[in-house]
Amino acid sequence: MSDTIFQKIIDRELPADIIYEDEQSLVFRDINPVAPTHLLIIPKKQIEKISDANDEDQELLGHLFLVAGKVAKQLEIDDAFRLVVNNGAGAQQTVFHLHIHLIAEREFSWPPG
Ligand code: AMP
Repeated sequence: MSDTIFQKIIDRELPADIIYEDEQSLVFRDINPVAPTHLLIIPKKQIEKISDANDEDQELLGHLFLVAGKVAKQLEIDDAFRLVVNNGAGAQQTVFHLHIHLIAEREFSWPPG
């Protein structure tokens, strides 16, 4: 797997507005936000997309969701936020390093687009 933009952010080869980091994950602001708060939660492990994850990633995937909740609490947006994972180009995935979008501080409707 070749290095993606997100791998370069992990390696500090590209700048990003990083708001949380631990051994397994990194959280930074989306460069093209669709809401006043738009974060990307990524594993440091290179996994192209959620359908490429396997049993050994179970703890890591759970960790990413816990990080989402933790960061939302820190930013005091935990009352209302949405998590989105685009899987594959047909679902509008553009960066092939698994990531969870955390979107908050905007009106939400259902079903999503
Ligand atoms: P997706 O379309 O689900 O693959 O989401 C990829 C996201 O990465 C998009 O929302 C982009 O705006 C965002 N993005 C691309 N390059 C960067 C970057 N250098 N720093 C922060 N976010 C980025």
